Amino acid sequence: MIILKTEEEIELLRQANLLVGRTLAEVAKLIEPGVTTRQLDTVAEEFIRDHGAIPTFKGFPNFEPGLPAFPGSLCTSVNGVIVHGIPNDVPLRDGDIVSVDCGTYLNGFCGDSAYTFCVGNVDEKVKHLLQTTKEALYLGIEQAVVGKRLGDIGNAVQQHCEKFGYGVVREFTGHGVGREMHEDPAVPNYGRRGNGVKLKLGMVIAIEPMITMKSRQIVFDDDDWGISTSDGLPAAHFEHTVAIGQKEADILSSFDFLEEVLRNKQN
Ligand code: MG
Ligand code: MG
Repeated sequence: MIILKTEEEIELLRQANLLVGRTLAEVAKLIEPGVTTRQLDTVAEEFIRDHGAIPTFKGFPNFEPGLPAFPGSLCTSVNGVIVHGIPNDVPLRDGDIVSVDCGTYLNGFCGDSAYTFCVGNVDEKVKHLLQTTKEALYLGIEQAVVGKRLGDIGNAVQQHCEKFGYGVVREFTGHGVGREMHEDPAVPNYGRRGNGVKLKLGMVIAIEPMITMKSRQIVFDDDDWGISTSDGLPAAHFEHTVAIGQKEADILSSFDFLEEVLRNKQN
């Protein structure tokens, strides 16, 4: 069942999502060769709690009953790990990429957004994968307007990525966002134009392309959480939470804070 949100509820969702954006900026400040994803996780958890929110990922139940709940406040997925990587003590190395996915629970509503960062100097081919995945996210967001359908979003993402021979992960999707982190509907990153649920005002969804360099086949990691590419090649993941708009989508999360940090680091 898709739960439609009032304007007031959308403002609360915006607050939770802006906090995710500011948390990702704190993480961006620290990303460099030698830092561990556990260090990123610690800083993120403190920042979220200091702002009166709860990290939604921490203790999140496993999709496989009986397996352990998620131990971190961030999902940190390095190189061939696509999503759901558990923060650990392995230092990031020059040339790595790391997807940082962050969730907050603030005033009864959830924020959810992810960004894939470069660590030091990254291969141009891998940078192109990241750039294309981010472009695909925004092309999907362009379709998140009243009267379009979920298939229009998925199709926009898929077409853009497959044009370059990249793989579009099928097993995991975006989702509705509200009082729960994962609500209906599922928002696939593939699909046919004009197919699927019709988009309405009040719908809030996370769009999150998970795109692989080559094969879209996935494997489950031994830690019961991580999802990796079967060929070991890198994967990218970018995510925004958006409210469906009359003329254009209202992006509730933000990359502005983190991208400002990245610009300042370059100078
Ligand atoms: Mg997420
Ligand atoms: Mg999500």
